[in-house]
Amino acid sequence: MEIKKTSHSRLPGLDINNLPFGKVFSDHMFLAEYTDGQWSKSRIVPYGDLQLSPASSMMHYGQSIFEGMKSYRSDSGEVLLFRPTDNQKRLNVSAERMAMQDVPEEIFMEGLVELLRIDQNWIPTGDGRSLYIRPFLIASDNYIGVKPSDSYLFLIITTPVGAYYDHPLKVKVEKTFFRAVEGGVGFVKASGNYGRSLYPTSLAKKDGYDQLIWTDAREHKYVEESGTMNLMFVIDDVLITPKLGDTILAGITRDSVLTLARDWKMKVEERKISVDEIVEGFHSGKLQEAFGTGTAATIAHISNIGFDGKDYELPKITPESFSSRVGKMLDDIRRGRVEDIHGWVYKVC
Ligand SMILES: *Cc1c(COP(=O)(O)O)cnc(C)c1O
Repeated sequence: MEIKKTSHSRLPGLDINNLPFGKVFSDHMFLAEYTDGQWSKSRIVPYGDLQLSPASSMMHYGQSIFEGMKSYRSDSGEVLLFRPTDNQKRLNVSAERMAMQDVPEEIFMEGLVELLRIDQNWIPTGDGRSLYIRPFLIASDNYIGVKPSDSYLFLIITTPVGAYYDHPLKVKVEKTFFRAVEGGVGFVKASGNYGRSLYPTSLAKKDGYDQLIWTDAREHKYVEESGTMNLMFVIDDVLITPKLGDTILAGITRDSVLTLARDWKMKVEERKISVDEIVEGFHSGKLQEAFGTGTAATIAHISNIGFDGKDYELPKITPESFSSRVGKMLDDIRRGRVEDIHGWVYKVC
């Protein structure tokens, strides 16, 4: 791998513990190119603009997919990643569905590890802080016809972040628009999924909500996800989350939360869950918790659910609530503070 380091680090003078989410990027980035049937030109270079033809196919037809992960600094100074090969595998699930070239594990992991070694001083320390990592793959043919690209660019950029949400979320059940449908691309991290969600979300924001709860495209009866998070409920001490399928993104945080709940002998159900069941649980007092799970926020508590013009205020979360305990346990695992019995933590250096 070719490595070209910057001679002007932007780090001196920056307070990386107090940056806005996702706006300041570390000194370097990783790139690899796929052309003529093979990956080549793996390199780390100073973070900077790309030069692309205006005919690059990704700009026109959306062959563009991404991943999201985080790196943490342990109390003893190690650089840690959480389940990175799961992100690599999921990138390739997305690549297959979008008819794109897959990225081999060696290229993904070598690029990631080398980039983190070089930019490790960009990892912020302290509660809720980490280095957010954005691997992405884009089609780069200079061709305006609609067909799978023959050339691709794989990149990794990183940005120091703090807490994603600073308050429990007010979410609104969406019954007009939908995020995903059977046979569609909701289960993959394809760029277009996020662009199309912005308009419905902006309408919910006008009504005073932070995010949407997406429901199934056919009946708007069953809940699916909230924003870019998987959705979980605790009803009558049972942890319930929608089952994976075409319309649900297989979150790594989701899987980790379910695994910990099962370790703790909590009853877990992966199945369809209707909005009516949630409202019933609210009225009967059996609905204890609702929260979203995802890399950016880890656990996002939900305080209010808006549905059919009514606003349901959920019971207050305490440190003993399942979502608080599981969020803390995940944080402790990712920062190397507790034993990693599932082999989730990857030590970079
Ligand atoms: C990324 C994402 C998630 C969360 O996945 P994690 O692996 O936990 O970060 C959930 N839903 C959608 C739609 C996503 O894009």
